[in-house]
Amino acid sequence: MNRAFLAIGTNIGDRYQNIGDCLTLLHEHPHIDLVQASSIYETDPVGYTEQDPFLNMVIEIKTALTPVELLDSCLEIEHSLGRKRIIRWGPRVIDLDILLYNQENIETDRLFVPHPRMQERAFVLIPLLEISPDEKLPRTNQPLRNCLDKISDREGVRIWKQKNGEDVFALFAN
Ligand code: ADP
Ligand code: MG
Repeated sequence: MNRAFLAIGTNIGDRYQNIGDCLTLLHEHPHIDLVQASSIYETDPVGYTEQDPFLNMVIEIKTALTPVELLDSCLEIEHSLGRKRIIRWGPRVIDLDILLYNQENIETDRLFVPHPRMQERAFVLIPLLEISPDEKLPRTNQPLRNCLDKISDREGVRIWKQKNGEDVFALFAN
């Protein structure tokens, strides 16, 4: 089994519902097991700021899928959730990225792991470190919490739904 971390982001429609739908589809996947979920954070948009704030979270999974198979599953989930909203040419309701896959470095046409921009993004590092405080970058073995110290926009990332307040896994529990 492989251990991976995924980042979920959404800023369109019912964002909480989108996260719940995404977790449901991951949970239903025969080769993906959900291990841990961070709190949900609300994040001011960075870069292109003329858009609504995001909800972001990070989850840890166990999976028998290879990195590329996992990417394809993430894209399928993005696609099925996007289609549900029927916004033609519109932005996606869910962004589902692979942050880490074991301690592997992957550089192919389609896939870069660790995710190339994760070290600069407080909205990724804060939820990731919440569930795995000692997580390190492969190759350099650098603790990711050292990256967070260098980032200035940490205050743009606020707890929106505390992990222990309401268990996010209850979102898809039957
Ligand atoms: P972003 O997530 O940077 O906003 P997109 O979600 O639009 O951008 O990018 C999707 C493409 O990024 C995918 O089709 C995939 O081939 C590529 N990609 C490269 N590395 C990763 C990764 N670690 N996780 C997810 N997608 C990745
Ligand atoms: Mg993406």
